[in-house]
Amino acid sequence: MYKTITSLHEAVLSGETTFENQVGFHLQQINDNLNTNAFIHIFGEEAIKTAKKLDQDLKAGMLTWKKLTGVCISLKDNICYQGHPCSAGSKILEGYKSPFSATAVQNLLNEGAIIIGTTNCDQFGMGSTSQNSHYGAVKNGIDDTLIAGGSSGGAAVSVQIGGSMLALGSDTGGSVRQPAAFTNTIGFKPSYGAVSRYGLIAYGSSFDQIGVVGTDYDDIYLAFDIMSGIDIHDSTSISIEITSENNLKSKPKFSYIPAMFEGEGAWMEGNQKALESLKEQFELVPFDFEYIKYLVPTYYILSTAEASSNLSRFDGVRYGYRAENAKDLQDMYIRSRSEGFGTEVKKRIMIGTFVLSEGYFDAYFTKALKIRRLLVNRINEILYDTDGLIMPISTSGPWKLNDKITDPTQIYLSDVYTVLANLVGMPAISIPIKNQNQSSDIHISLQILGKKNHDYSLFNLAKLASI
Ligand code: GLN
Repeated sequence: MYKTITSLHEAVLSGETTFENQVGFHLQQINDNLNTNAFIHIFGEEAIKTAKKLDQDLKAGMLTWKKLTGVCISLKDNICYQGHPCSAGSKILEGYKSPFSATAVQNLLNEGAIIIGTTNCDQFGMGSTSQNSHYGAVKNGIDDTLIAGGSSGGAAVSVQIGGSMLALGSDTGGSVRQPAAFTNTIGFKPSYGAVSRYGLIAYGSSFDQIGVVGTDYDDIYLAFDIMSGIDIHDSTSISIEITSENNLKSKPKFSYIPAMFEGEGAWMEGNQKALESLKEQFELVPFDFEYIKYLVPTYYILSTAEASSNLSRFDGVRYGYRAENAKDLQDMYIRSRSEGFGTEVKKRIMIGTFVLSEGYFDAYFTKALKIRRLLVNRINEILYDTDGLIMPISTSGPWKLNDKITDPTQIYLSDVYTVLANLVGMPAISIPIKNQNQSSDIHISLQILGKKNHDYSLFNLAKLASI
């Protein structure tokens, strides 16, 4: 198995392996780890066929090498790929095939990538455990009694088990970074607007970004670079500033918020130790941040409000599931949505509708928007003086499947550190911390939040900090 794009390309060029072999390897890994339930659809035959064609072209001296030639990538089940199923992990879209590819996917295909399958996730990206899926829960590849995190749990496990070299996920409030941290992989959420959202099934449009899970920083950056840019199909897409490594001070200065590292138990102690080890190598400046308690409420008010509006399009008429034998139009709408959406999705549509309703709009929605502005201002202040903000990923490590299910507030609260990046639109990356004296297989990852549109600098910071 070749773990990086360069090593794969070199090995194919030297005749040490073939593209078909590499695809075969990924398919074998997927098959050997079916217990994880990471994949919903596997495009095995198609992937082998593409790889064979690449091998033939190479032999005939006709292969045009592209940046991602023969690189296998999996797609979270909410990212569209033309002619292939895409259901956002929900019954309401079961059997739906997308008539077009997301811009991000098309850009990867244009560079020679092979899409190996779609990965399991919480319905419409709503969850932190990948248990809210119509297709059953995703299980952690390290220990299948543990959650893999969510909502892009399948994406993270796809990389963890070697089912793909890279995986696309979506991150509305941490869904790429948290499962990456729970599977000892790297998860990156770009600056808001850096990657087109065209073809990503919307959850919260002002939060959503397609992100990448992988094991190699350069490969993740390459995929991001290929996917990013202005897209006429997404008016919020932007062209990000590529800052060169030289702009980064040779010794970067990090910020951290001490209150975020308070707490007991092995997980928080692991986070504290990781922070201490960074302090030995870098300058770390503590900052006060008086808004921690507002992060989760603000995120859940705004994201559910947006979700309630975005999900109104699933009405049994245009897409996917339609209830049978409806009495009339109203009955068809109600039953299609009641039967098609999962419990968590229905709960969020109701919360979102409530906070947008006439009597409560100002009390919840408008207030949350004001807090969002305060958060942006404060984080800008913190990042004015430092290169990146170091934070934990989650309040705990991966927990047992079905734990906390009776207390969903605990699960919402566990997102406190990841939702910040989406609230402020800044890039963030979860980095596995090396050299830990951990007795268990569960590793600690921290995240770094970077300046808006300085995604390249963030990668350089991550590489330095993860050594
Ligand atoms: N866990 C968060 C939620 O349930 C984030 C989800 C996401 O990023 N898609 O909303």
